[in-house]
Amino acid sequence: MDSAIPRPDVGVQRRKLREVSHLQIPLCNVQNIIDLGEQGEVCVTNDEGQSETLVADLIIGADGTSSTVHSIVLPQTKRTYAGYVLVRGLVPTEELSDDAIRVMDFSATLCWNRNSQMLSYTVPARKDGPPNSHNFLNWGWYVKKTEEELNELMTDGDGQRHHYTLPQGGMRAHLADEIRMTAQDELSPQFAEAVEKTKLPFVQVVTDSGAPSNVFSDGKILLVGDAAGGQRPHAGSAVTMACFHAHLLRLLLQGLMSLDEWSRETQFVSSALVKAGQELGSICLSTDLDPSEKAKSFLGGSLAAQKLLTEKWMQFWKENK
Ligand SMILES: Cc1cc2nc3c(=O)[nH]c(=O)nc-3n(C[C@H](O)[C@H](O)[C@H](O)COP(=O)(O)OP(=O)(O)OC[C@H]3O[C@@H](n4cnc5c(N)ncnc54)[C@H](O)[C@@H]3O)c2cc1C
Repeated sequence: MDSAIPRPDVGVQRRKLREVSHLQIPLCNVQNIIDLGEQGEVCVTNDEGQSETLVADLIIGADGTSSTVHSIVLPQTKRTYAGYVLVRGLVPTEELSDDAIRVMDFSATLCWNRNSQMLSYTVPARKDGPPNSHNFLNWGWYVKKTEEELNELMTDGDGQRHHYTLPQGGMRAHLADEIRMTAQDELSPQFAEAVEKTKLPFVQVVTDSGAPSNVFSDGKILLVGDAAGGQRPHAGSAVTMACFHAHLLRLLLQGLMSLDEWSRETQFVSSALVKAGQELGSICLSTDLDPSEKAKSFLGGSLAAQKLLTEKWMQFWKENK
């Protein structure tokens, strides 16, 4: 077990990205894109459910890991299951024992096991709460699941199969009980307590997705953020990468960098971080390494990924390019 994960020198909080990205952006759902030569036609459904067609000089696919824009420009690259899931839960901190609070210490804490890995950190009770109002322990436990086990886990009480996220309240009671029992056998007592006290566990499926290119139709369509490279969550750098892509996009639109340079730099960072996430995942789920070896290798890999991201930020920030 280890505590106090070193933070990256440059990091952007997910809540900040969400605050900014939900400002003043009209809601619409992209359905299709048609290349018109000089311009592109985007077919959307607006928030009233009506179809609209927009004509654009530049189309930026920033629509996340299950990106529609990505699937239109790169139909051959699919989002694939990585072989394990992140079982997650939230527990009010006042319900935890003094022992659990002492170990988890309200900061990021990792628990290393023979065949899985768990992490915890605290979050505000409300999404819009101040950052220092930490009232919930947020935990995530990486666990391997075969395709068959995954199907069972991701099917809720109404028989609906969820693709990538099983929401709170969706997990069937016997599966939640199984998870609590396994936690007693495999985790340290403090982490097992957090799992035991979680009323509604939920699940995020860990996937891989990447793009061999992020520029299409002679520069009329670009992919950024998760749409360009969906990272496994281990490095905790996906938000910072998405913001790096956005920063370089600003430089591109201001004419301070060429399209080739934009593509090269953003692709370099995406592919390095996608690869780092895969390597960190292999360490976390390895059955060959003992827990202390896992902790050491993980911290080395994690710091290397954060160093790369920080150096790239500094390069393009300092030059104010
Ligand atoms: C539960 C959870 C916890 C996470 N925690 C962390 C963390 O601690 N640190 C970290 O670095 N990363 C974290 N991530 C990952 C992080 O949220 C993403 O990497 C980041 O948000 C990527 O930003 P993005 O703008 O590329 O995509 P997103 O934030 O996914 O935004 C995509 C947007 O596109 C919209 N959209 C989707 N399809 C369409 C369409 N067809 N038409 C129009 N709009 C569409 C979506 O509604 C959404 O608003 C977490 C992810 C999840 C799910």
